[in-house]
Amino acid sequence: MSEYTDSITKKVMIIVAHPDDADFMAAGTLAKWAQEGCSIVYLLCTSGDKGTSDPKTKPEELAVIREKEQENACTVIGGEQVIFLRHADGMLQNTLTLRKDIVRQIRIHKPDVVICQDPTNRYGDSNINHPDHRAAGDTALDAIFPSARDYHMFPELVQEEGLLPHKVLEVYLSTREGNASVWIDITETIDIKVSALKQHASQVGTDAESLERLETRLKQRASDVGTPHAMKYAEAFKYIKLR
Ligand SMILES: [Zn+2]
Repeated sequence: MSEYTDSITKKVMIIVAHPDDADFMAAGTLAKWAQEGCSIVYLLCTSGDKGTSDPKTKPEELAVIREKEQENACTVIGGEQVIFLRHADGMLQNTLTLRKDIVRQIRIHKPDVVICQDPTNRYGDSNINHPDHRAAGDTALDAIFPSARDYHMFPELVQEEGLLPHKVLEVYLSTREGNASVWIDITETIDIKVSALKQHASQVGTDAESLERLETRLKQRASDVGTPHAMKYAEAFKYIKLR
């Protein structure tokens, strides 16, 4: 893992809104950590069932396709498992229901490290961040602290499911330019990241020209992030070490 961690082998959970979010954010880092012996679990709040402009594609069919694409991408980066919460795409909110669903998975899988989306990322110069991304990040942080950690939060998880509290130690937020505090060198795993993203064929296409554009875009982005920090390719995060 990076120099910001205490031990070599960790349990990592990445919590995101949609299929492909995790891989755009962090596939290079996830692949690197998997190679170093970390276990990686993906937790998806929605299955991205509205992610098409084709009126003939049925949302429930798209969800099945996108779940399979995400499982394939997880395999490519060396991850262990993808868990789907199947909340409604495009309508994600920071509700107690979603928080409990995330707390349940944190208590089952006991991650040392969680990667999630930055809920403070509202807009950039040329984009508005997807509301599902903000909701997923907000709820993930609320689940980590204090709900997953505290015995009396969702007591039915203890009483009915035997899920004891769990304290997450570190959080990496995929964040906007200017808010990052750690840069992970992904020079050795950039090709795995490209390959993981290519698994999301319903979103990135399958023709050679589209895939070449995707690879160029991913490498340019990783180069822009890494170059100021003397890395060929990098992913950037806001890092929180919980005490
Ligand atoms: Zn998304």
